[in-house]
Amino acid sequence: MMERLREPVQVDTLELPLRPSVGIAIHPAHGGDANALLLAAEAALSQARSQGDGRHCYATAALTDAYALSTGLEQDLQAAVAQGAFHLNWMPVIDTATEQVVSFEALVRWNRPGHGEMSPGLFIPVAEAGGLIEQLDAWVLHAACAEAASWQQALGVSVNVSPLWLSHGRLPRLLRRVLERTGLEPNRLQIELSERGALADDGSARRELAQVRAMGVRLALDDFGTGFSSLSALTSYPFDQVKLDRQFVRALGHDRRAEAITRSVLQMVQALGMTSCAEGVETEAQLAFLDAHGCEEIQGYLIGRPIPTLPPHATGSAQPAPAVEYEVG
Ligand code: C2E
Ligand code: MG
Ligand code: MG
Repeated sequence: MMERLREPVQVDTLELPLRPSVGIAIHPAHGGDANALLLAAEAALSQARSQGDGRHCYATAALTDAYALSTGLEQDLQAAVAQGAFHLNWMPVIDTATEQVVSFEALVRWNRPGHGEMSPGLFIPVAEAGGLIEQLDAWVLHAACAEAASWQQALGVSVNVSPLWLSHGRLPRLLRRVLERTGLEPNRLQIELSERGALADDGSARRELAQVRAMGVRLALDDFGTGFSSLSALTSYPFDQVKLDRQFVRALGHDRRAEAITRSVLQMVQALGMTSCAEGVETEAQLAFLDAHGCEEIQGYLIGRPIPTLPPHATGSAQPAPAVEYEVG
């Protein structure tokens, strides 16, 4: 069958090659009824596709189980996005020199029914692949800005946004709406874009980010040093801050070469007129190194772990922030 399918198809003058992927499930080994067989075949197909074009793969119980779990995940996530069934954790960022808290980063959490709290590292990629990430990020933006607007002190608030849905001016539109509804001053908000995924060097994304900055909102490049685009991202986009990935910080104290790289990155960021924030600081020695080499801000378990409710004194409020109903989308 695959050989026959590989024969090119003629469309007018074009000869189109086909590279079919095939998943194979056999009765009764891989399933007792049509539904079970189809699921097993889909799982095998998805495995075949992940190996490249033109492959075939037989079903196995392990493949089918993993596939069922991941498709269930997307459905559950869809329901959670529709209901806004998330909550936020807050992580403090301090000014390295004064050791005062200057802002909090909002980190999304999802209590998946029947599974407990799931890490965003697991469900953000599923939301991105399933076309749910824009709605999820919009929920987080609303929730984080509404809460920050209720703080007594005008501390900063950082929100992670997936670079995947940057285009067609949607981010500036969303931000305008969120700032208007929540009353948060734009200069208190920072948007973090991770370079872990694809931060494409494309003109429309660049214009969009310039618009965001023109509104007074700050932009940070998150997870610096993990992607392929590090240096080109810095020259192509108008970032205010660079967040050094945990891997730099982890190497401090026992890897001379990594220390040299960290020092040079801090210098380069400064020379480009941006500030640095180091992520994942867990020891006093790491803090001392970063302070000595001009890293303006610090974040990590040494300073504070992500927590669901900020104590009133953290934000200068007399009472915890009121629960707010956030709309989705
Ligand atoms: P991130 O933005 O780089 O956030 C930092 C992550 O590192 C957080 O994990 C935080 O708990 C962890 N971390 C911070 N300091 C330390 C430390 O000292 N030691 C250790 N071991 N870990 C530390 P978390 O909350 O699991 O978030 C993972 C990633 O998920 C985030 O990385 C961010 O890229 C993404 N994410 C979180 N919330 C959102 C969101 O609302 N939208 C989008 N698009 N992505 C989000
Ligand atoms: Mg971040
Ligand atoms: Mg990061």
